[in-house]
Amino acid sequence: MQVYLDNHATTPVDPRVLEAMTPYFLTKFGNPASSSHSFGWEAAEAVRVARTQVAALIGAQANEIVFTSSATESNNLAIKGVVADRAGAHLIVTTIEHSAVLDPAARLEAKGAAGVAVTRLGVDREGRIHLKELAAALRPETVLVSIIAANNEIGVVQDMEAIGALVHAHGALLHSDATQAVGKIPVDVNAWRVDLLSLSGHKLYAPKGVGALYIRADTPLVSQLDGGGHERGLRSGTLNVPGIVGLGEAARLAQQEMAAEAVRIGRLRDRLRAAITGGLEGVRVNGSSDHRLPHNLHLTFEGVEAELLMMSAHEIAVSSGSACTSAKRASSHVLRALGMSDAEAHCSLRFGLGRFTTEAEIDYAAARIVEAVGQLRPLSLP
Ligand SMILES: *Cc1c(COP(=O)(O)O)cnc(C)c1O
Repeated sequence: MQVYLDNHATTPVDPRVLEAMTPYFLTKFGNPASSSHSFGWEAAEAVRVARTQVAALIGAQANEIVFTSSATESNNLAIKGVVADRAGAHLIVTTIEHSAVLDPAARLEAKGAAGVAVTRLGVDREGRIHLKELAAALRPETVLVSIIAANNEIGVVQDMEAIGALVHAHGALLHSDATQAVGKIPVDVNAWRVDLLSLSGHKLYAPKGVGALYIRADTPLVSQLDGGGHERGLRSGTLNVPGIVGLGEAARLAQQEMAAEAVRIGRLRDRLRAAITGGLEGVRVNGSSDHRLPHNLHLTFEGVEAELLMMSAHEIAVSSGSACTSAKRASSHVLRALGMSDAEAHCSLRFGLGRFTTEAEIDYAAARIVEAVGQLRPLSLP
């Protein structure tokens, strides 16, 4: 049996999403920018509906949604688009951001001449930022604060409402990379008081290659991709209509099913944790238990290299870092931010449950992990 427990890296397309998309490849293939015939009108109407569906999932207005190719692009547009050429601008991010926030921030900082300063806010052992530290980091010249709503490795959720109130009171703009939160837990751009929010299709059962950026009305933002003036001039490029239709349908399904799905997945996650920690000594759970996606379990197996464990239990698809860093061999910056040593980080695995995870799969995965750790541990003794 193959068990896919890497749903933070990507999710399969929901068959209902694929069904909604299919006509937009074949018969309804028009360009929504073609305003002179019905092929164009049909495509434009589909994009309009999808925009409404995505907006509804996060409590936004449809005209505040800009479609992009990915959360990576959304994060780049949000950060570079706000900071733009503002000399002396100050930017605050956390140390547990995805590289799609950390790297644009670092590039702005490296430009030096423009004088962009970046503060990287640390987290506690549970993976949570402290409001007092955020308050202390805010400066008069802080233009943007970017906080990951739900972390892609340890699943830890930040208190976005309190963060939003604090940043708003200070007068800075707030961006959230909510790629792992949207569709999994309630997201409300007004309750959170965010000005910008990134999401990605392939993390919520829509295809890869489509994402969106929520931009609160009147937020000053400089386009990073100029051309035909699509998306109100903020993101030129012919729209990925099938992908956008898929993202819309995925958002609609998530809105309907999220509450029940979170309960079901949370129970499965707890079952997985209980089976593994009940069957083995020396297993630690990483990240806050109270403020966490129900979909995520992150464990350290004392004395067992995660890479070996994954090879030994290879039918269980999990990850030892985020998908993006697992090509490199450096230990995860998120785990180091929690205060874990490189050795501990290299003995850690992320389990990401999803819509299609079954109880039988969880029981099988737990049994295989317990068995593999049992086999590897004696080998790793001196
Ligand atoms: C997956 C992910 C991204 C990148 O999304 P893409 O659409 O693949 O570019 C960014 N941030 C977080 C938190 C993610 O989980």
